Amino acid sequence: MCRRRAFLQTVLVIGLLIDVRKCSGQLYRSESAEVGRRARNYDGRVQQQPAHELGFGYYYQGDIMLPAPQSQDRLSIAEEHASTVWPNAIVPYYITPNSFTPSEVGIIERAMNVFHAKTCVRFVPRTPQTPHYFQITNRPAGCYASIGRAQDNSQNVMNLQAPACLSGGTPMHEMMHVLGFLHEVSRPDRDEYIYVNRSALEPRYQSKFPFRVQYCFRLVTHLRL
Ligand SMILES: [Zn+2]
Repeated sequence: MCRRRAFLQTVLVIGLLIDVRKCSGQLYRSESAEVGRRARNYDGRVQQQPAHELGFGYYYQGDIMLPAPQSQDRLSIAEEHASTVWPNAIVPYYITPNSFTPSEVGIIERAMNVFHAKTCVRFVPRTPQTPHYFQITNRPAGCYASIGRAQDNSQNVMNLQAPACLSGGTPMHEMMHVLGFLHEVSRPDRDEYIYVNRSALEPRYQSKFPFRVQYCFRLVTHLRL
């Protein structure tokens, strides 16, 4: 009986430690080689799941690298957090040299051009005078991006593991995160538009909010849960 109690206490302590790790924000803040393996084996021709959904369980909401614990459970970046907004919608970028083929760079640039054509957002190459920018990398860690602009440029990263993360709308999807947006399915009024299997959700994702905003099924940040 005592051994059983000790076992249960051990399980409880381990559970608490895991929970504390989540609350401290350490989870979702480091690269995952497992997600990189998934991306390496990804075949968009046979898998319906887009590549940016390969990181569930490893990155926040599947493909977000959190810069700070308080950024969780946010719909988007609010104005009072001015440090996370790209001033004048100008977003300097820096592509890691020799990490992508010219064809792959073309895919990234075409995704940026969609924003240029349809929004006021402007992605511009970083210059030596650019104080803040985000870096585009091709590391074996799947698809992920940081949210909004951090003061520390080392936290402004968008990783597109080629070729998986250059397929479909994934580059645009990750750019939305760089701009400061979380996923459409994390919107407070999602239940009025889509069905969510709540038994599969963690409790912190089940809360409801009082405000209403128009839901967009076609938005690139809408996930198919
Ligand atoms: Zn995403």
